[in-house]
Amino acid sequence: MSIIIAAAAIRGAYKIVDQAKEIYKKAVEEKGADSPVAFPNTGYYIPIIYSMTGIAVEKLSDFDEIFAEIDRLVPEPVDEEFWLPYLGPVLDAGMATLYAEEIIEACKYLIGPNPVDDLWLGAADDVIMRERGIQFVDGTAPGFAAIAGAAPDVETAVEIARKLQEKRLYVFMHSNDNGTSFAEQLVEGGVQLGWDTRLVPFGRGITSAVYALGFASRAALSFGGVQPGDFRRNLLYNKNRVFAFVMALGEVTDEWYATAAGAINYGFPTIADSDIPEILPTGICTYEHVVSNIPHDQIVEKCIEVRGLKVKISEVPIPVSYSPAFEGERIRKDDMYCEFGGNRTPAFEWFNTLDSKDVEDGKIEVIGPEIDDIEEGGNLPLGIVIEGSGRKMQSDFEPVLERQVHTFINEAQGIWHMGQRDINWLRISKDAKKAGFKIEHFGSILHAMLHEKYGKIVDKIQVKLYTEEAKVLELREKVRKVYGQRDERLAGMVDESVDTFYSCSLCQSFAPDHICVITPERSGLCGAYSWLDGKAAYEITPTGPNQPIAKGNAVDATIGQWDKVNDFISSTTQGKIECMSAYSMIVDPMTSCGCFECISAILPSTNGIMIVNREFTGMTPSGMKFSTLAGTVGGGNQTPGFVGHSKHYISSKKFIFAEGGVQRIVWMPKALKDDVKEQLIKRADELGLGGEAFFDKIADETHGETEEEIMEYITKVGHPALEMDEMF
Ligand code: SF4
Ligand code: ZN
Repeated sequence: MSIIIAAAAIRGAYKIVDQAKEIYKKAVEEKGADSPVAFPNTGYYIPIIYSMTGIAVEKLSDFDEIFAEIDRLVPEPVDEEFWLPYLGPVLDAGMATLYAEEIIEACKYLIGPNPVDDLWLGAADDVIMRERGIQFVDGTAPGFAAIAGAAPDVETAVEIARKLQEKRLYVFMHSNDNGTSFAEQLVEGGVQLGWDTRLVPFGRGITSAVYALGFASRAALSFGGVQPGDFRRNLLYNKNRVFAFVMALGEVTDEWYATAAGAINYGFPTIADSDIPEILPTGICTYEHVVSNIPHDQIVEKCIEVRGLKVKISEVPIPVSYSPAFEGERIRKDDMYCEFGGNRTPAFEWFNTLDSKDVEDGKIEVIGPEIDDIEEGGNLPLGIVIEGSGRKMQSDFEPVLERQVHTFINEAQGIWHMGQRDINWLRISKDAKKAGFKIEHFGSILHAMLHEKYGKIVDKIQVKLYTEEAKVLELREKVRKVYGQRDERLAGMVDESVDTFYSCSLCQSFAPDHICVITPERSGLCGAYSWLDGKAAYEITPTGPNQPIAKGNAVDATIGQWDKVNDFISSTTQGKIECMSAYSMIVDPMTSCGCFECISAILPSTNGIMIVNREFTGMTPSGMKFSTLAGTVGGGNQTPGFVGHSKHYISSKKFIFAEGGVQRIVWMPKALKDDVKEQLIKRADELGLGGEAFFDKIADETHGETEEEIMEYITKVGHPALEMDEMF
């Protein structure tokens, strides 16, 4: 244990704590000790403090208790002659630093300067956390790199960022080096920043590091079932599950040391380009805590090696980079070389199963003009026909595979895809064109990725890319008939028509007590898995997270309980949950990991329910915001009167069937209403509620925010819930 680093970290802790005391004092003077204090839209209060101490800071004066804790933690300053035999005091100084930094950032939200501006994003709210958390769960994002400082020049910064993106890591950016920041370097290099490209500029100062570590802390709470205040389990969870590290670029100040010491508590090592004292394995990590002097062209590899990340990279034979980190990239009109579909030209995409003898694996044909035949800024029609064969292939899997076209094509750098079927829209950027990307490469991507991800189902894949208008129009007619037939088949698929449901335990790596049961009429609560997806996934990986569940005999068909399903739930939750209803939110409702798109909650006086979606950040008539409700519903518990579910489930015939279905809905945010409008009207029609008339009786935030206001509105419009039996 180096004395120098201990001295620096402790010195840094003192400096940060002093800053915290100063801004806190100012905040109290300006706003008063009782002023509420919070990060935006989160149910986790000030998250590091909340997760580590269990203290829910709600008003400024609550910080007094935290300052006492900080004073207890910060060790006596040591001079550089002094030998510290173990890491403990440095770790404590690090933790105290993080608390102090959270106080600083929280006060900034209150009295400025606002942590959010044109470039910097500030704290990630719970919507982002859950959305991105799923990627940590399913492995599309193995972890994150927290970058402090700046690269020596723009080119180096861009190269480091690209490499991290290719490794699928999130890049969290903090701080600056002599006034230059990594984030600003990327902007200068023309790189798109934001959550969608996994390049996240949190803040200009080192104190913004708490946004990255707060993210990690919340992951432990929301996905790992760690209790607030359970310091040890939180840190262990992060050490074992969240593959993160700090990359320090430039001069490492005392404040950086102190913050890095905080990160070491989580098991996140620091890898630096400068010559700073190293800390070798002892105690918490089995790997180095601080590694220094790494050249820029090796630093990404070194970080990955030190943290022990195993990143599998798909080999796709195209002239641009390929990684999920490029999925969220947008291509603006000015950056575009050419486009396809999007109402500009006819286009479609179609997966079709053929006999094995009719498929020549790897054959890719462009039928019509190639990219070189059109001018910059031009467009072409595009019919993507994927022909596959395989012994395990079933026509039911066609839509499942076809839906992957979106993700697969988007993951290529400089290529953009939107929509599906015959409303798809694609763009190729100028940069990609310059790198040699051709229309033919759409086929290369689809061939490589379908083999990689669905190799258990498809044996052979060939791709035809039609770019002649007449041919595309002709084929589109034919394909539209196929889409229609598929829709009919799907609509006819009801829970009664199958004898097997599928489980999804994907979230168990983060939420050990939760399991989703997916039925044809109730998709997974995250909205990402339908019954067909579950079925296909089981074929692909028979020992994977999606297992068939034989229904067995109905215990009660109204609430949706079957004996074999109950047995399955009981055995996969170690007896914690014994019965689970697929169609009731009152009797044994389905549990939730926290990934739900929506939450339904009973509003007792209205005799109905409200539904709120994750994107809605306002107050709801239940008196709780989404984030607070999420705390009630998540974590693998059954809470009668509350249930988490997908958007799709709202218009299902089985939506809270036991309680009477959609006619219980008295309130939804306007945006959600609009989102599900068409299907909901259709469903209300089927129930004889008078489709649109019923739809208009559902209140939204423009009608009121409290249960009383909603009651008033639904009474006025004569909402059918008022006439129904009581819910309990
Ligand atoms: Fe998680 Fe359920 Fe979605 Fe599977 S279906 S990923 S368990 S939320
Ligand atoms: Zn989940």
